[in-house]
Amino acid sequence: MFEKVLIANRGEIALRILRACKEMGIKTVAVHSKVDRDLKHVRLADESVCIGPNPSNQSYLNIPAIISAMEVTDAVAVHPGYGFLAENADFAEQVQKSGFVFIGPDADVIRLMGDKVSAIAAMKRAGVPTVPGSDGPLPAQDREKCLEIGRRVGYPVIIKAAAGGGGRGMRVVHTEASLMNSILTTQGEAKAAFGDDTVYMEKFLQNPRHVEIQVMSDGQGNAIHLGDRDCSLQRRHQKVIEEAPAPGIPDDVRQSTAQACINACIKIGYRGAGTFEFLYEDGNFYFIEMNTRIQVEHPVSEMVTGVDLIREQIRVCAGQKLSYKQEDIVIRGHSFECRINAEDPKTFMPCPGTIKNFHPPGGFGVRVDSHLYSGYTVPPNYDSMVGKIITYGETREEALNRMRHALDETVIDGIRTNIALHQSLVRDTEFIKGGVNIHYLEKKLSS
Ligand code: ADP
Repeated sequence: MFEKVLIANRGEIALRILRACKEMGIKTVAVHSKVDRDLKHVRLADESVCIGPNPSNQSYLNIPAIISAMEVTDAVAVHPGYGFLAENADFAEQVQKSGFVFIGPDADVIRLMGDKVSAIAAMKRAGVPTVPGSDGPLPAQDREKCLEIGRRVGYPVIIKAAAGGGGRGMRVVHTEASLMNSILTTQGEAKAAFGDDTVYMEKFLQNPRHVEIQVMSDGQGNAIHLGDRDCSLQRRHQKVIEEAPAPGIPDDVRQSTAQACINACIKIGYRGAGTFEFLYEDGNFYFIEMNTRIQVEHPVSEMVTGVDLIREQIRVCAGQKLSYKQEDIVIRGHSFECRINAEDPKTFMPCPGTIKNFHPPGGFGVRVDSHLYSGYTVPPNYDSMVGKIITYGETREEALNRMRHALDETVIDGIRTNIALHQSLVRDTEFIKGGVNIHYLEKKLSS
């Protein structure tokens, strides 16, 4: 096992990784920007290194500074968390070239999945169900061919940038008349934003749910799935509440899709934790992308499987075989996660500031993953998510009921948060029923 791991992240996920390392007897190095010296995990780590000024591109995205920090502290591996450098193939490659271990898959696997056209092609070959579409890049210079593909796929369609991410570089097209224009505009935007003008076409699904499957693979021919999560409650493509398992999915569809994901992991030599993201509509799964990292919402899967995903991720990236076989994974009960953001409840604008009082909720079946403490100042420089409240119950109803009480118990004084929004969502009749689609929250907010 690794002697010392450097945590190349901040906030709640850095603390989550630190806790896993401590339990495993691994020494930890925290790296941080100037403003982040008082982060909880920085205080708790065995060593800490300031890697630069506050802007992310000079600190958390500063590859040479992170690799230097590994050198001076003798860390042997780096855990990237999520966001920042977690899906940066160049970072993974440079870490490896410098003689260290990147806790994640190989750089070429990150690259394969980072390009959506190649990712979809690889998944299709491995038997994972995909959205009907252009099956490769659109030949934008060949108008007739594009129109023909559009007719075959059927309107509405969506034009997406192969290098897109974070909900950017997409355009829905309703009629053939506007197809070529949309292709060219998306291409131009993709070139400007991602330096790659490759675009492709997919059928636009009208009212899908977002359902994703968690996998873990050791890169030695063993892979398992840890069930699914429903993350349909989103605002501007940002997930707000997640749950596991996804409600109302027929067992045979769920099993066959999960099995396809396992096969794909083995086929591409995947190592570490990963998530296959799908749109789910009318009983069918449609692959849209794979995230080659641990995700924000991983705790709901941990709660219903009893598996510590960060620990397992570290183990397999240290070269150990998976400690579980598929038959060891039993999905039991139900779990919800509410993402707590420091934001204005009306405008959704980030609201940094100093926490005067922080009283997290507690009790049986309640988990809080947060770096907040009374007196801590949330800086304006980074993501506004300040923690996650996770509940578990034997049934969906019990887990949701616990979430209501957990939210009501929570006190975060000094900054504005989205707790009131969560309090209303967990009492929303449609949400209580389960299975709302990805447009539900935006519609509710605008009504
Ligand atoms: P990103 O990497 O930018 O998150 P995704 O491919 O994951 O891009 O798509 C982001 C979101 O866009 C999805 O969660 C969904 O809301 C919407 N979307 C993407 N593809 C389709 C599609 N074929 N039909 C309907 N909605 C889609």
